[in-house]
Amino acid sequence: MGGGFDMHYYVLAILGPTNHPEAKLDELLNPFYESEYDWYQIGGRYTGMLTGYKPSDDPKNVEVCEQCKGTGDNKNLEPPEWKKQCGGCNGCRGKGVRAKWPTDWERYSGDIQQVSDVEITEANSPYAFVVGDKWVAPEAIVKEDGKYKSRDNNKFGFQLEEALKNNQDGIVVVVDCHN
Ligand SMILES: [Zn+2]
Repeated sequence: MGGGFDMHYYVLAILGPTNHPEAKLDELLNPFYESEYDWYQIGGRYTGMLTGYKPSDDPKNVEVCEQCKGTGDNKNLEPPEWKKQCGGCNGCRGKGVRAKWPTDWERYSGDIQQVSDVEITEANSPYAFVVGDKWVAPEAIVKEDGKYKSRDNNKFGFQLEEALKNNQDGIVVVVDCHN
């Protein structure tokens, strides 16, 4: 991305009941193309948000390190102090394997769930959610009495709770949006 600011957002999409969540998701997100995102994928770097699953620890998402060809010893790494600090290889810290890029992670079934099975906590609360024809994000940071006040997370949290409550028979999808 050439030093630019690469913005990824964790978004929850709340769909009605469906057997085709991928098509439904596409429909839901389409009106927001270019205003809210220019690219998305299910899961992505937010894979496992709803369950605590760690995709980078899954052997399916690990690949042989190119820098050391899997040996854990990068022959070209200089100087020796730096090499030592890297554990032998700057690509894998000497493990010989490393996590693939999120775009290459295997699809994880836990990123598409029944709304009724999902519990939102502070740890897995999204940046925004989409329901019906609405994209809902917390209000922007505002300056008040000379101080920057954080986004209105309480209101946002309440809106999200309501949206989930009203769609208990629906499907919720973890989405990695890029803008
Ligand atoms: Zn390596």
